[in-house]
Amino acid sequence: MSADNRPSVPEPRSRSEPKGVGGDPRELNDDVTEPPGKIWFRDLDETVIEADRCIQCASCVAACPSDSIGIDEEEHRPTLVKMCTGCSRCWDFCPRSGLRYERHLELTAEERGLAEPATYAARANGDAAAAGQDGGAVTALLAELIEASELDGAVVARESEEDPLRGEPFLATSREDLLEAGGSIYSQTMGLGQIDDLLADDGLDPAEADLALVGTPCVIQGATALDRYDHEPADPIALTVALMCTRSFEHRRLVSRLESFDVDSERVDKIDITDGTLYASDADGTTLLETDVDAFDAAGLRGCAECADFVGAAADISAGNVGTAGGETTVVVRTETGRAAWTAAANGLEATAIDRPGTLEHLADWNRRRAESTLPREYDPEGSVGISYEEHREAYDGTDREPKPLNPARVHQYEEWC
Ligand SMILES: Cc1cc2nc3c(=O)[nH]c(=O)nc-3n(C[C@H](O)[C@H](O)[C@H](O)COP(=O)(O)OP(=O)(O)OC[C@H]3O[C@@H](n4cnc5c(N)ncnc54)[C@H](O)[C@@H]3O)c2cc1C
Ligand code: SF4
Ligand code: SF4
Repeated sequence: MSADNRPSVPEPRSRSEPKGVGGDPRELNDDVTEPPGKIWFRDLDETVIEADRCIQCASCVAACPSDSIGIDEEEHRPTLVKMCTGCSRCWDFCPRSGLRYERHLELTAEERGLAEPATYAARANGDAAAAGQDGGAVTALLAELIEASELDGAVVARESEEDPLRGEPFLATSREDLLEAGGSIYSQTMGLGQIDDLLADDGLDPAEADLALVGTPCVIQGATALDRYDHEPADPIALTVALMCTRSFEHRRLVSRLESFDVDSERVDKIDITDGTLYASDADGTTLLETDVDAFDAAGLRGCAECADFVGAAADISAGNVGTAGGETTVVVRTETGRAAWTAAANGLEATAIDRPGTLEHLADWNRRRAESTLPREYDPEGSVGISYEEHREAYDGTDREPKPLNPARVHQYEEWC
């Protein structure tokens, strides 16, 4: 289908529309009486993926009702695997196109259930401390909840055995699994789009299971929007944990940038980014590289520059290292669900007041300003939930983030399936 015979697209939604009220976001398109037009995966592909703005959050994969979007193992990005029906949901839930993600950075009072977020400097008791990236608080929290049967498992990340430093989604169902998966992986796993497969592999029923989802803030934005508007009766996500984030890396570019510093990715056991410095170390703890993180700018996901959500504001709990001493995790408990989980896991954790709360606020503020200056469209937390295809093109066309034509290798697929 060419751009010229594209079906009509929905109008931008009204600014007066209430926040987070549930229902299908397309039905919130209150000024439109005609059924909204179709937007195809092809449109998303050209606008976000080919334009190198995809942040690999997998919201589109999770949102597709016909399972038409899969994950390209080679390229590590969404791809069409069967007929696209033009239902537009991949567009609607993509934080780099149709989803005005900043609308999801403020939970409703009902969703929060807590008057104020509570911030802690936390560290794990026992074995989780050594397994974790910082204080091991996330590992300890999830392990305690699984052992107390509050959760059946947690969708976390582990490193691919074949491909060093590449993150894979992993359904941890025991403390041992979580200890194995501890630490940060600086590439996306696309776990949100693979939850059903992970559950099926473990013989768990999505309608019965209660899972935690751990991910970068953009992943949690997608999960939160799906939860708000989808009302999937079988939604197994019972707790969301965001890892605070200013950028993630495109796996192959990360590996090749390390190579340019003569660092073999197979030797790298841990990457850490603290106070603007990137450290890579081997399994003995020997430092292989210490350099300004800016030297890795070109390896970052380009879409990250449009992200204002350093803290993971839509999550039940956020975790990072900024503002706390080495060996501690900064934990922000944002919702009543998060508070109940935090309380249930108290035996596995030591928590005190955070040392430098100002540092957290400062970084969050910097991150928001970066997004505001990079986004070709207006950054508008009060704006309509959805951004129409036309509105998006109007803002992005003519900029260095405009849509790019499809990879010729894929065109035949789209001719057949879109
Ligand atoms: C891409 C990325 C960028 C980050 N940038 C910052 C930053 O700029 N500032 C900051 O303060 N903190 C940042 N963090 C968070 C920080 O690295 C730690 O994850 C956080 O402090 C929690 O530490 P912990 O020891 O409690 O976690 P752990 O006990 O190590 O538990 C972390 C859990 O998260 C899972 N996990 C790790 N990586 C991923 C991933 N990519 N996707 C899904 N799950 C994953 C692990 O499997 C593990 O279960 C970043 C994390 C990531 C993944
Ligand atoms: S940014 Fe997320 S939702 Fe958008 S195309 Fe990429 S993976 Fe899909
Ligand atoms: S900076 Fe934002 S968009 Fe990029 S990985 Fe982190 S949360 Fe996602």
